[in-house]
Amino acid sequence: MKMYFRLNPECYLIRGKKCGAIYDLIDEKIYALNQYETRIVTSSENNDVVNEDNTYLTELEKLRIGRFYKKKIYVQKLRAGSPIREIQSEPPAFHRAFLEINNICNRNCWFCGYNGVKRSLGCIGCNRWNENGESLSLEKWKRIINDLSDLDCKDIFIIGGDLTLVWAKTVNIVNYANSKFRNIYITLHHQSLSLDIANYLNNKANLIIQTDNINVPQYNQSSVIMVMNPDDWTDFYDMESKGIKIDFVIDDVESLSNNLPIISKKKILPVNVYKFIDNIEYHPCLGHTLAICHNGNVIPCPLMRSHRFGNVRNGELYQVFEKNWKEIEKIWKLNLDKIEKCKCCEFRYACTDCRALEENLTGKLSGKRLCGYNPIEGEWLK
Ligand code: SF4
Ligand code: SF4
Ligand code: SF4
Repeated sequence: MKMYFRLNPECYLIRGKKCGAIYDLIDEKIYALNQYETRIVTSSENNDVVNEDNTYLTELEKLRIGRFYKKKIYVQKLRAGSPIREIQSEPPAFHRAFLEINNICNRNCWFCGYNGVKRSLGCIGCNRWNENGESLSLEKWKRIINDLSDLDCKDIFIIGGDLTLVWAKTVNIVNYANSKFRNIYITLHHQSLSLDIANYLNNKANLIIQTDNINVPQYNQSSVIMVMNPDDWTDFYDMESKGIKIDFVIDDVESLSNNLPIISKKKILPVNVYKFIDNIEYHPCLGHTLAICHNGNVIPCPLMRSHRFGNVRNGELYQVFEKNWKEIEKIWKLNLDKIEKCKCCEFRYACTDCRALEENLTGKLSGKRLCGYNPIEGEWLK
């Protein structure tokens, strides 16, 4: 019998060069399709006639991803947010700010930023930089926090240096931010931590413990960022299920295993409707994010030191937005459609991407090195 088949409103077909993927935005699942499956779903989404006995489409109906219809129909896809928000020239949606309170530390960690930007998650770790400039004053940080609150920023990451070397100032900043933000994160190296500090931060901020020691003690309301050489990685410890985030330090790009979580299928995360719609327009990590450095420089993220949007030492944050919005927008809207290799990949609206590290490894803002998928052939490298 002449039938039609359409995906449900919450299910999007995204095409790559060879294959496609169905994004189920309610169940937050991604179904990778082979070439045949891509062809048949593309055809049915174009309202072409299909065979009601088609086994694959019947399977999709059982999964509640789509259904057969007797007549051609129009399916209004699920969306989120206002499509005219940007046109209405509202302030830019600003979700995450990194506040780098200081640039001093007496340690000499092998993975620190002054050895070069090679970390996959160094933004939420601590780093010291080979940079000059006096640190911003406490009063200036309070004004910045006011501005962030006015701009409706959601998440604040307080980072250094070793913040315990300026602990009185840090406490003041945490207390001040606490009156304005719900999601405050603060990073300390595990050797800088004491029970007193952990107790003080309890209920004030989410503590991120920076370490390269697998036996580091955990504290209430804390998470661990574990720095690791890719050669030492094994999923034996199952760190991710324990909430431990792995921060890979990449020295030798050529010898990387395709099983590493930052290269394998694990880099593709299920997305909900908000994240999916956002990823169509914005970079999955840099979008809606800024970092304010110890010396007042405003940059895209703590590890992209060579991209500078302005400085807030003698000015205000909104002035940086006013004067440099075009440059900020260019980085925020560096979605994966603009990244070499990713632009022809069906996973481009669900994939994770550390632009700081990719730029460092490839020498190009749009380069891509950390990926084991070949979208031209539709195959994962073994
Ligand atoms: S504790 Fe942090 S800031 Fe200090 S050297 Fe180590 S990584 Fe760098
Ligand atoms: S990194 Fe790019 S090419 Fe690789 S899976 Fe993600 S979106 Fe696809
Ligand atoms: S691009 Fe994102 S993940 Fe990478 S360092 Fe910057 S903020 Fe962190």
